[in-house]
Amino acid sequence: MKINIGCHLSVSGGYENMGRTALSIGANTFQFFTRNPRGGGIKIPSDKDINGLIRIMEENNFAPIIAHAPYTFNPCAADENIRKYTRDTMIEDVKLLEKIPHTYYNFHPGSHVSQGVEIGIEKTADTLNNITKHAQSTTILIETMAGKGSEIGKTFEEIRAIIDRVDDSSHVGVCLDTCHISDGGYDIANNTDAVLQEFDRIIGLDRLKAVHLNDSKNPLGAKKDRHEKLGLGSLGLTGIEKIITHPAIIGLPIVLETPNELEGYAQEIALIKKFIK
Ligand code: FE
Ligand code: FE
Ligand code: ZN
Repeated sequence: MKINIGCHLSVSGGYENMGRTALSIGANTFQFFTRNPRGGGIKIPSDKDINGLIRIMEENNFAPIIAHAPYTFNPCAADENIRKYTRDTMIEDVKLLEKIPHTYYNFHPGSHVSQGVEIGIEKTADTLNNITKHAQSTTILIETMAGKGSEIGKTFEEIRAIIDRVDDSSHVGVCLDTCHISDGGYDIANNTDAVLQEFDRIIGLDRLKAVHLNDSKNPLGAKKDRHEKLGLGSLGLTGIEKIITHPAIIGLPIVLETPNELEGYAQEIALIKKFIK
């Protein structure tokens, strides 16, 4: 069985360089921030750089890669100026990503602060409606959240409610973060099958496009969002194995966001590959 596994990489050396780095650690996918994760301008890569990455991906049978939107954005901010900035930036990102066939663009659905979950969902869906128009080959992924503060997207129902409000959701999917959903109260490590069945019932497994594979520093339901190295947190290695070998997960791009440098990522990738017969 083929597994698609990689980790978070830095874009600072360019796009082709990320492809080469992925290869060097045994990865066939990866994730990166399109710009400084705290926001700011984008450095537009040259066509040569993009095409260099595409060639590496084709020659080495890469799964789709994941671009991550800056996490300080708030697609459901009460302030229209912040929402507009989020929207404009995400559109700029999607236009760039259209140059890399079938790329995923992952974003956090935002925090409603004091507006309430319902309004948060409405505003995030509105932001999404402005972005999907620009996505032809790109698929926009809503990330499942831990529920810290007033984050929306902490339950499958909230994610479903966002998708239901998108006019054309044909290019909208979900990225399941194992640390986040465990912190959100879904016991994915022990009740893997039941949790994925619930995902299927509420959202539909056809929407599940990618996985952020992280252990958690905190217990089930803690609503904290602190990632841990595989096997050292509350999910544990047995839980991690159950997740990545589940038929609903296998074949999807799986990206590590564990607290590691490149060498640690290489070791975790090797570990994961051992679980796949
Ligand atoms: Fe994220
Ligand atoms: Fe994540
Ligand atoms: Zn996280």
